[in-house]
Amino acid sequence: MRIVVLAGGVGGARMADGFARAVLPEDLTVIVNTGDDFEWHGLLVCPDLDTVMYTLAGIANPETGWGIQGDTWGALEMLGRYGGETWFRIGDRDLATHVYRTFLLRQGLRLSEVTARLCRALGVRAAIWPMSDEPVRTIVETEEGPLPFQEYFVRRGCQPRVRSFRWEGLEGARLSPEARAALEGADLVVIAPSNPYVSIGPILALPGVRELLQDRTVVAVSPIIGGQALKGPAAKMMAELGEAPSALGVARCYRSFLDGFVLDRADAALAPAVEAMGIRPLVTDIVILDPSARARLAEEILRWVAS
Ligand code: GDP
Ligand code: CA
Repeated sequence: MRIVVLAGGVGGARMADGFARAVLPEDLTVIVNTGDDFEWHGLLVCPDLDTVMYTLAGIANPETGWGIQGDTWGALEMLGRYGGETWFRIGDRDLATHVYRTFLLRQGLRLSEVTARLCRALGVRAAIWPMSDEPVRTIVETEEGPLPFQEYFVRRGCQPRVRSFRWEGLEGARLSPEARAALEGADLVVIAPSNPYVSIGPILALPGVRELLQDRTVVAVSPIIGGQALKGPAAKMMAELGEAPSALGVARCYRSFLDGFVLDRADAALAPAVEAMGIRPLVTDIVILDPSARARLAEEILRWVAS
């Protein structure tokens, strides 16, 4: 059974980790959002790719979900002394990732090739691909005007009210060839419990992706439990966009191609409404903070899909 997980950062990495523990590495591909990527002091930073990569490599910081466990902050402090901007926190070890990635990109490698190299060096055996080799940048249209994603998310702490999103570079961007091949060969596509707008939205916005998903078996895991996101602005965004913040709203985002939807026990009452949309519901525990819970959920999804 060939599994493809569509993922953002922290929620995506947790689900990808569950499948990495449940299936053989050659059967798992993770396609990751790059809409959060940005240039930091001349270096390309890919927050979601790195979160997934560090998590599958077993070196992610368990407290934050992002960054590297035990990282230090000497470079950032020094940067601050020079008057450089330090609102985006990059640890010393993490910095090496961005230095080396940028170095390889300047030699002419595609982001997919660079990612594969970094993953191999870190001992990650499942395939992790960026959604696209071409830059796609999420712009958040807020009541205060347009903000590049990291300005909205980190610098402004998701405070400004959201009106809509757009993706710079989307016209020239394609699904990466590796990601396309994986999706075409997938027996099951799992949409991780990631932000449907800013983590999964950019992947779905790439030409042809929705059509590809219509031809596959696709299940999604809700990032919303009891009307709230476990982390981040997903629920706040839903409310500001006029969608009731609930697991049901997430299912609605994906309804045109979704076969199954996994909700938390706390949302069991929503299962009939999911079913009424023609989508099979699975009600279970979907808080997957620790590795055993991640593996358990992945195994449960595999059994459910097989039945
Ligand atoms: P980001 O790029 O780090 O913001 O990551 P994602 O978009 O992948 O993840 C953020 C989303 O993950 C939020 O909406 C959270 O509610 C959700 N999330 C994080 N941890 C969990 C978890 O353990 N279970 C579920 N169901 N959702 C989670
Ligand atoms: Ca992200």
